[in-house]
Amino acid sequence: MADKFDVVVIGGGPGGYVAAIRAAQLGLKTACIDKWLNKEGKGVFGGTCLNVGCIPSKALLDSTHKYEEAKDHFDVHGISIKDINIDVNAMQSRKEQIVKGLTTGVAGLFKANGVTPLEGVGKLLAGKKVEFTNHAGKTEVLEAENVILATGSVPIEIPPAPLAEGLIVDSTGALEFTEAPKRLGVIGAGVIGLELGTVWNRIGSKVTVIEAQDKFLSLVDQQVAKEASKLLKKQGMDILLGARLTGTEIKGKEVVVNYTDAEGEKTATFDKLIVAVGRRPYTQNLLSGDCGVNLDERGFIFVNDKCSTDAPGVYAIGDVVRGPMLAHKSSEEGVMVAERIAGHKAQMNYDIIPSVIYTHPEIAFVGKNEDELKAAGEKYNVGTFPFAASGRAMAANDTAGFVKIIADAETDRILGASVIGPSAGDLVQQVVIAMEFGSSAEDLGMMVFSHPSLSETVHEAALGVNGHAIHKANRKRR
Ligand code: FAD
Ligand code: AMP
Repeated sequence: MADKFDVVVIGGGPGGYVAAIRAAQLGLKTACIDKWLNKEGKGVFGGTCLNVGCIPSKALLDSTHKYEEAKDHFDVHGISIKDINIDVNAMQSRKEQIVKGLTTGVAGLFKANGVTPLEGVGKLLAGKKVEFTNHAGKTEVLEAENVILATGSVPIEIPPAPLAEGLIVDSTGALEFTEAPKRLGVIGAGVIGLELGTVWNRIGSKVTVIEAQDKFLSLVDQQVAKEASKLLKKQGMDILLGARLTGTEIKGKEVVVNYTDAEGEKTATFDKLIVAVGRRPYTQNLLSGDCGVNLDERGFIFVNDKCSTDAPGVYAIGDVVRGPMLAHKSSEEGVMVAERIAGHKAQMNYDIIPSVIYTHPEIAFVGKNEDELKAAGEKYNVGTFPFAASGRAMAANDTAGFVKIIADAETDRILGASVIGPSAGDLVQQVVIAMEFGSSAEDLGMMVFSHPSLSETVHEAALGVNGHAIHKANRKRR
């Protein structure tokens, strides 16, 4: 007889593994299927995020940030270092160890919570049955009361830049370079392109980013985007806007790139090219024709705001469904679905999902930005506070950027925040918490923030919304 589960999750990334753990915690008999094989050919859970996404990219960003700090910024502290070097192989093996630690950790969490791990491929059949084929090719059919699809996404490939072993790579390949390419091209100035470009720029690559859109970081508050563009250029990155890739050619060990911009056709030559033009939902061989689950016009699994698909008892979460492709969005959807399956009234607030770009300085935002509010004709007040006026930022010699908080002009309720500066990702989270509790800028301003801390910049920006900032001159006094 086939195994019967309360919940079968297909996909063990941050959406799927979190959903599986939460379901098991709630007493549901749960299995999680994942087909990922690591470099040693071993089945691992953790998906894109732990294996080739958030975690390895941050490991490399942290290593290269420390190198750059030591090389270029320690002298102000009176520290001089002679003959500074970076061993890229050591940096890469540190990254591998972190990935290994975390993926092993997921296996441990499955064990601790009683989730059945199934290494292999899952396919949804009609009637909430799941066909599971293990890595040895053995197939069985699992029966499930509920199925959660969490198969994630993969990098988009574009015809003008087919991947070419070691020369034209996607984000996964860009995490694997064994030395900094002398001339590195990056197609796409999105989050992934900028983060990966930053890694190699810091340790010696001459990086050129080719971006089709005329606007830099079009989804980000444009005051922040302008500051980011200025700072990244200062770090040595060339960012070509309004430049659309039209073709690539491998010539020996070089990649010749053709693109068009306002002036016409251009070429550029690189030692390596990273294609980072976005990701697409991954549903290959996932759905049998009669399973009842539908895709939307862009290929995402169609779901409602509670992540239910068109097939009763089948849910989908994470990158494979609409919404921002972010690990924390995937995980929270996983928790919501597991809790709803267990009969709880869980829901998710899609209006308050923070985003972070882990360049230095970091760029982070949540809720509505000023450009969106202006375009919608909303009335709002803005408070900003520069890190240059923060004692803590000065002590750390990390003063670029600012915090910007926006509140409704009538109610003072916080509508959004954008931060560019040190620890922006952590700072914006304070505004996330405030927004979740429906806080006004005044509420945030009345709270006590420890001194000296970077958090004080959030406090001051909140005070600034109503013209009460203490450590900068307010434009508006009330
Ligand atoms: P995934 O993590 O993609 O996991 C899906 C899993 O499903 C995979 O393990 C796959 O093997 C498995 N699978 C697919 N089909 C099947 C099948 N039929 N049978 C069995 N298993 C299957 N997000 C952030 O929030 N912060 C960041 O800093 C960040 N940095 C990133 C950096 C890079 C370089 C990249 C590429 C992504 C980054 N992301 C980041 C995005 C983040 O990784 C994704 O949003 C997140 O991993 C999505 O989670 P998921 O569970 O939906 O899917
Ligand atoms: P994201 O979706 O945030 O990962 O960003 C991907 C970026 O790649 C977007 O800003 C796109 O405008 C950009 N892009 C997509 N196709 C091309 C192309 N052919 N040439 C240059 N940039 C591109």
